[in-house]
Amino acid sequence: MKKIALVGCTGSIGKQTAETVRRYPNEFAFSSLVCGNDENALAAMNAEFRPAYACCAAKEAPDLQRIFEDCDVALIAAGGFAGLSYTLAAVRAGKRIALANKESLVCGGELVLREAEKYGAEIVPVDSEHSAIFQALSFRRDTRFARLVLTASGGPFLHCTEEELACMTAKDALRHPTWNMGAKITVDSATLLNKGYEVIEAKWLYGAGYEQIEAVVHPESIVHSLVYFEDGAAIAQLGYPDMRVPIQLALTYPERLPCCEQLDLARIGALHFERLPREKFPCFDLALRAGKEGGTCPALLNAAGETAVQAFLQGRISFLNIAETIEDALNAIPRSDADCYEAISSADATARERARKLIYGK
Ligand code: MG
Repeated sequence: MKKIALVGCTGSIGKQTAETVRRYPNEFAFSSLVCGNDENALAAMNAEFRPAYACCAAKEAPDLQRIFEDCDVALIAAGGFAGLSYTLAAVRAGKRIALANKESLVCGGELVLREAEKYGAEIVPVDSEHSAIFQALSFRRDTRFARLVLTASGGPFLHCTEEELACMTAKDALRHPTWNMGAKITVDSATLLNKGYEVIEAKWLYGAGYEQIEAVVHPESIVHSLVYFEDGAAIAQLGYPDMRVPIQLALTYPERLPCCEQLDLARIGALHFERLPREKFPCFDLALRAGKEGGTCPALLNAAGETAVQAFLQGRISFLNIAETIEDALNAIPRSDADCYEAISSADATARERARKLIYGK
């Protein structure tokens, strides 16, 4: 029986994790459940799964030690920058961390990895692309590879003209063609900021240089990512787009349990790949720029991005304003080292304030 501490239990990944636990009651149980603000959903899960500890972060400050003290796996599915403090607490408890919170590595990659080494914690990716790479590397981070290729569905606006992009609303952005995800990440998929985040995550997870990581558009979302090796061989992981597979695998690996339908290749027919249209979606290059500049730059990128996406979802700014808000923060705020939580958190606050001023004029 594996005991899971689930942070972000009422979000999209959290609910799908609960489905896995429901399906395998003899394999998994929740030792703790933490949600952001959906108290009612937490109460229902609490009644069903009876964890030793449950907390709604909007109501009371979560006890970071208690969340992780009794678990075998910490699944961090909290959204946004808030996820970093949970990831750090789980790392310092020396746990296996099934990481679904991108911001932990985007903003705090250097710190999280250093602490993981110190405390003997293990980071297992939940994101479908990084899970695919992990599988292609036979679950071994020391496997030598030449290049990593992240696939991208391209989001709902892939073939829009720039004029069309300027008019896109939150409702349009939330119609993702293949994956069923939360609102924030769905908008990040439409801007390709999400793919930029994933490049930064891949750098930290697999010790790859930025020149070794690329992204390619694959509209069917069947090939979840690939690893190229020195001899020219490439290994990919394929499957229907279903987050339950990487979630479950992060909990069970190297073992596997039945999860979803197997591919019917003849029914799928053709798979397509095309170049990432970087010039139309500047958020991708902004993410790479921040990643390469390093230090607190990715935290600035993320904070400005979160603020802008929230404003976009509320109809306050246009789709194209999202990239402009991020670029403004990166240009205006100086980089500093990201070697402790305080430095990262302070960069986060500075970029949020600047982005808010730009968007709301105050
Ligand atoms: Mg992904």
